[in-house]
Amino acid sequence: MTDAANRDCASSGPHLDPNALREKYRYERDRRLRPDGKTQYRRAAGEFGYYAKDPYTPFTERAPLTDRVDVLVVGGGFGGLLTGARLRESGVESVRLIDEGGDFGGTWYWNRYPGIHCDIESYVYMPLLEEVGYVPKWRYAPGDEIRRHCVAIAEHYGLYRDAVFHTRATELRWDDEENEWLVSTDRGDEMRARYVVVSSGTLSQPKLPGIPGIENYRGHTFHTSRWDYGYTGGDADGGLYRLADKRVGIVGTGATGLQAIPFVARDAEHLYVFQRTPSSVDVRDNRPTDPEWAASLRPGWQRERMENFLAILAGEDVDVDLVGDRWTSTARLQRKMITGAVDTTLEPDERERLDETADFAKMNEIRARVAEVVDDPQTAAALQPWYRYMCKRPGFSDHYLQTFNRPNVTLVDTADHGGVTRMTERGVVVGDVEYEVDCVVFATGFETGVSGVRSGTLPVYGRGGRALLDHWAAGPRTLHGFYSHGFPNLFHLASMQNANSVNFAHILQEQADHIAAVVAEARKCGAECVEPTAEAEDAWCDTIRDTAIDNGTFLAECTPGYYNGEGTRRTATPSSYGPGPIAFHRLLAQWRTGDMSDVLVAPAAGAGR
Ligand code: NDP
Repeated sequence: MTDAANRDCASSGPHLDPNALREKYRYERDRRLRPDGKTQYRRAAGEFGYYAKDPYTPFTERAPLTDRVDVLVVGGGFGGLLTGARLRESGVESVRLIDEGGDFGGTWYWNRYPGIHCDIESYVYMPLLEEVGYVPKWRYAPGDEIRRHCVAIAEHYGLYRDAVFHTRATELRWDDEENEWLVSTDRGDEMRARYVVVSSGTLSQPKLPGIPGIENYRGHTFHTSRWDYGYTGGDADGGLYRLADKRVGIVGTGATGLQAIPFVARDAEHLYVFQRTPSSVDVRDNRPTDPEWAASLRPGWQRERMENFLAILAGEDVDVDLVGDRWTSTARLQRKMITGAVDTTLEPDERERLDETADFAKMNEIRARVAEVVDDPQTAAALQPWYRYMCKRPGFSDHYLQTFNRPNVTLVDTADHGGVTRMTERGVVVGDVEYEVDCVVFATGFETGVSGVRSGTLPVYGRGGRALLDHWAAGPRTLHGFYSHGFPNLFHLASMQNANSVNFAHILQEQADHIAAVVAEARKCGAECVEPTAEAEDAWCDTIRDTAIDNGTFLAECTPGYYNGEGTRRTATPSSYGPGPIAFHRLLAQWRTGDMSDVLVAPAAGAGR
C-alpha cells in the first residue's frame, strides 16, 4: 500500500470504500507477517520454567497413589468439574479429578491478573448456577467470583474427596487384560481407572515471545497467568500500591492485556504498553446484577438463557435475544470462525459480499470509537484495528482506550518491527529506542494445541499398545469428537470434530452431559467397554470433512495471530460440525435415544472388534 493510501485510510473516518479497506487490511497484515511464524515463541519451560510455576498454592508432598477409581478426569477446570458433577448426578461415586494447578478452576485458577473478568455474560457462562444455587453478582463476573464458584461446584458434588492437585498425567496406557487404564503422573502415581476423561483445556501453558536477550533482563518479570502480587501489591480488584514508584512495561494487548492494562496504569509510576496488533475494543457495559431480576428467575432459567444465546450465535432463528450484548449483535460475523446456520438462499459470492460489508461496518464503528475516546490522534491511529472482526478474539472494555489519555501511559507501537526488538539488562528495545523499566509483564497468551493428547505431551496407548497419535497421524479420528476406535473407555472434552462457540462453557456442558449419559448406559446394560466401531468413526470423519466451513481465504487475509497459526495457516481446518452447535447437540440428543450399539461393547464381543 502506498503511504498516501495508508494515510487516506487512516484519516478518512468510517465511510471507506471496500477496495481501500481491503488494501489497508493487506498492508497491515503484511507488515506483521514474520518468517518464523509459530516458532517465534518460547515455551515457559526449562530455563524459563519459573514463568509457569504456581504462585498461589504451596506444594504439598504426598505418597504416590496406586489405587483404582471408576472414572479419572484429567483437568479440574470447567470441563472436568462439569463431567464430575454430571457423573455424580448419574450415580457414579468413584470419580477422581487430577490437575496441575493447586485447586479447581483451570484457567480461572491460573489467571488472577488485576481486572480479570469473563467476557461472556456470566449468567450463561458460569456453569451449574441453578444446581449450586448461585446468581453471579455482575453481568460479566470478576475472575475471583468465577474461581470461587468452581470451588463451590466441587464442594457441592463432593469432588474434593478423591481429587489430586499439582499433579500432571504423563501417560495413559490401556491394560488389555484388566480392561482398564493405567494412569501415570509426574508424582510417581500409577493409578487405575475404568474410564478416563481428558479435559485438559486448549489455552493453558503460558507462552513467551522469543525476544532476543529476554534472559539478560535484570528487572522483575512474570506472565499475566501467574500474577506476582508479592511484587505489585494489591489484588485482582487493583490497589497495586507497590508499583507507585515503578516503571512497568506490558507486552501484549490481547483479551488479557485489555483487562489488566487499565489497572496497572492506575497504580504504576509509568506504564509502557508494547503493542504489536491492536485488539478490537467494543463497548462492555458491565453492571451489577439487578436483585429484582435475580428474584424473578424460575427453575430452568439458566438452560433456557444458554440455549437462547447459543442459538443466536449459531445463526438460528429465535424470537427473543435474552442476553442482548455485543456477542449476539455480531453473530453473523462470527460465522467466519465458528460453524452455524447460514443463509443458503444466497449464492456463496453474494453471501460473502454481504458478510464483508457487515464486517467493514462493524470494524468502522470500532475504529470510530477509538478516534472518539483517545485524545492524541497519533495514539488513536495506532490503536485502530485494521482486519476483519473474527481475525482475533474480539475485545470489550469501557476503560482500556481511556487509559491512553493518562499522562503516565505511553503506547509503543511495535508493528513495524514484528514486535519487541530485543531486551537488555535494563529494559525493552523497539527499533533502536530503549525503554528502561523496573518490571516487564508478559500478556503474551498461551501455547495452542500443547495441552492434552494431541500434542503428545500426554502420550496415550490403547488396545495392543497402539499410540493414539499413530491412529491420528492424519488428524484426529473420532465419533462425535468423544472417542476413537482402539481406545476404549477414553473420552475427550475438547474442540475437536464436534461443536464450537465463543461460549465454550456451554459446549463443555453438553459434552459432559453426553459422557455421563453414555457411561450411565454402559453401566446399566453391563457393557464391557465404550468404544466406537471403526465404521462409526469413519462415517463421522466423513461428515466432518463434508460439512467443514471453508475459511482458508479468510484466515490467510487476517493479521497473524493464534487463530491462523501466526499467519501460516492458509487452508481450512475441518474441526467442527458444519451445521453448528445447535444442530450438533440435536444430533447427539437424537443419537442418545437409540441403543448406542455403535459404542457399547458387549462382554463377549470385546476382543474381536
Ligand atoms: P493473545 O494470544 O490473545 O495475545 C497475546 C498478545 O501478545 C498479542 O497482543 C500479541 O500481539 C502480543 N505479542 C506476542 N508476541 C509479541 C512480541 N514479540 N512483541 C509484542 N507483542 C507480542 O493472549 P491473551 O492472553 O490476551 O488471550 C488469550 C485467549 O485467552 C483469548 O483469545 C481468549 O480466548 C482467552 N481470554 C479470555 C478472557 C475472558 O474474559 N473470557 C480474558 C482473557 C483471555 P499480536 O496480536 O500481534 O500477535
